[in-house]
Amino acid sequence: MSPPPFFVMGKIKRTTGGSVFTGRLPEGCRKCLRGEKLVLFVTGVCKDNCYYCPVGFSRRGKDRAFANERRVVHVDDLMLEAKRMKATGAGITGGDPLLKVGRTVRFVRALKRKFGKKFHIHLYTSGTAATRGKLKRLYEAGVDEIRFHRNLKAVKMATKFRWEVGGEIPAMPGKLNTIKKFLKGLEAAGATFCNINELEFSEGNMTAFLK
Ligand code: SF4
Repeated sequence: MSPPPFFVMGKIKRTTGGSVFTGRLPEGCRKCLRGEKLVLFVTGVCKDNCYYCPVGFSRRGKDRAFANERRVVHVDDLMLEAKRMKATGAGITGGDPLLKVGRTVRFVRALKRKFGKKFHIHLYTSGTAATRGKLKRLYEAGVDEIRFHRNLKAVKMATKFRWEVGGEIPAMPGKLNTIKKFLKGLEAAGATFCNINELEFSEGNMTAFLK
């Protein structure tokens, strides 16, 4: 049975964390709200240059992985962090995980092997480096949900697989029309949800935002 659509104007509800939403929350968000998601930063490398990028200078452009704040040199570091926080899932981010797809696939497989199929994994990407082959590898490794913040073509490619596909973008001031256009594009491409993040102001994007 297909899930109910996200893009419906329904009652506005509030999460325990104070966010608002309509429709239903993606599974990745539900687990995150309960503090059950490990943040897996796969690499600081990214081909995009978004002015709103919140990645800090200590990680930006550097090909290093972290599980929460723990440096991951070996997959055991990742397992240790997941066990310590009693994670029931992970959110994979960067940088762009699609630029290190072999490493990402290795991590996803290891997590699923250790914690079981129900260990929920969602992944963030701009989509710039997406190819059908990379998406297929991620899907087959066990990624449950994928979120794009650009590149509607990549969104369309991703909807060919049976995982949850959505968008995630920052609440950029003065960009309401751009956001609306992206939402419409997402819906047309077959995505089922979009998160609009509270604007994250960090050392990495401070200069651009002040401008
Ligand atoms: S795609 Fe993500 S990591 Fe890359 S520059 Fe944009 S916000 Fe930063």
